[in-house]
Amino acid sequence: MKEELLKLLAAYNINVDDFYKLSYKTLINGLFEDICKDIKSKGQETEERKRFKESRNTLKATEAILRRYHKSCKLNEDDNKNEIEQLSILLNCFFNKKPRMTSKISIKEYLWEVQNHKCNICGEPIIKPNEGELDHIIAYDLVGDELENNSQLLCKTCNTRKGNSSAYEFSVLLTKNKKK
Ligand SMILES: [Zn+2]
Repeated sequence: MKEELLKLLAAYNINVDDFYKLSYKTLINGLFEDICKDIKSKGQETEERKRFKESRNTLKATEAILRRYHKSCKLNEDDNKNEIEQLSILLNCFFNKKPRMTSKISIKEYLWEVQNHKCNICGEPIIKPNEGELDHIIAYDLVGDELENNSQLLCKTCNTRKGNSSAYEFSVLLTKNKKK
């Protein structure tokens, strides 16, 4: 299957590293979003926040949350330290998020420069900072403004079509090289 996948990516002219990066991000962020939705829907946010904040070891606290809300997932600190760390950073944001900050224009200008005046998903040019739309890579209502590097500037099309689905990003990867 792996070889078939690599052949397919080559035939589609998709960069293997780009594909791996997007898959990795999708798996970690997807797990986080699933856990948060579960915590919310079971009305456990206050209790879990208290537990998480009072725990001395956030990695252990993260593992415990995983066991409570995603039993089938076997991620653990010994074998998957980076992933548990990443999840603990996200959960820390989830439990500590504050009310929304305002200065959106300067963030847009900053991202516009960093992204070389291009949409961060499809790469289409964005002529002026204000033509871009500010997107939170992981939903704002889950992590607030706590997470660094969680903002990106997107063109209108990508921002509209992305929604909360990573499938869109895979589809862009597929069509990105079409014009070349
Ligand atoms: Zn775009």
